[in-house]
Amino acid sequence: MSQDISDVIIVGSGPAGYTAAIYAARAQLKPILFEGAVTAGGALMNTTEVENFPGFPEGVMGPALMEDMRVQAVKFGAEIITDDVTHVELTSAVKKVVDGEGKEYFAHAVILATGSGYREIGLENEKRLSGHGVSWCATCDGFFFRDQDIAVVGGGDSAVEEATFLTRFAKSVTLIHRRDELRASKIMVDRAHKDPKIKFAWNTEVIDLHGEAKLSSATLRDTVTGETRELAITGLFVAIGHDPRSELLKGQVDLDAEGYVLTANGSTATNLAGVFACGDLVDHTYRQAITAAGTGCSAALDTERYLANLHSK
Ligand code: NAP
Repeated sequence: MSQDISDVIIVGSGPAGYTAAIYAARAQLKPILFEGAVTAGGALMNTTEVENFPGFPEGVMGPALMEDMRVQAVKFGAEIITDDVTHVELTSAVKKVVDGEGKEYFAHAVILATGSGYREIGLENEKRLSGHGVSWCATCDGFFFRDQDIAVVGGGDSAVEEATFLTRFAKSVTLIHRRDELRASKIMVDRAHKDPKIKFAWNTEVIDLHGEAKLSSATLRDTVTGETRELAITGLFVAIGHDPRSELLKGQVDLDAEGYVLTANGSTATNLAGVFACGDLVDHTYRQAITAAGTGCSAALDTERYLANLHSK
């Protein structure tokens, strides 16, 4: 029995995956894109207004931007499958991708665009209280913390953006950062400093969380003096960065020590012929929607060239 072999399968549906799909579809490669069973759209689905994506002078909501990219990919003929990829076999000339129901798909090329997943602090009670006061998504859960005292952990753009967003609901938001300087962009830091609802806990880390059915307080430690104190909060938003989602790829695609996919200099090619990677999965440095979209475009162009070469043999 002959198996259907597609030209290209794209795994992941953030700006990288959708952009790769738009380009591959316009190149008549009929891409199949797995967008995930529950996380379709990627990290931008958890953001509010994106102010720095070129072409939107008034800003654009993250989920709306992703929906438009998806519509654009479908318009040009991309097939989108709303399921997770649970297994891949990428080392042979024909690649195999298996979905959540165990259905197998085959392709000559695969574009990996699985992005990154949020990082956890690593406290025992963090997991237990997840969904009971501890959250990783201000836009999803902020509404539940109306008139409450809450906190955000982290010092990057995500933490500052979430803290600012959460002041719409909360009585107060304490931004807990392990150093005395934020790494977030200046415009966002200035906005946060001007917000009377935001307080800053500098040189501070969260070492424990308390509460039975629901979060009631956190134990904080001063990273300079070592002193500890209790902060009464009913909500804690963790925004301490992301790690690449490369679990599926271990043992096949070369990864660096932190789990990012390694690509050849100036290209999206991995160590495996016909396997390309883009977006946050490969990016230690920039991790912006626009840079992810840019490398998604590159991955589609690299794939197109690879397939042209393959089909001409
Ligand atoms: P990030 O820039 O990597 O910042 C992570 C923050 O968490 C840092 O301040 C870091 O502290 C802190 N941190 C890391 N591990 C920690 C731990 N175990 N305990 C306590 N604190 C910890 O991550 P991000 O804020 O998610 O941003 C990721 C990328 O997306 C960035 O490139 C950012 O510019 C971009 N982004 C852009 C926008 C926007 O432009 N609208 C919005 C969101 C995100 P240190 O500072 O001490 O390292």
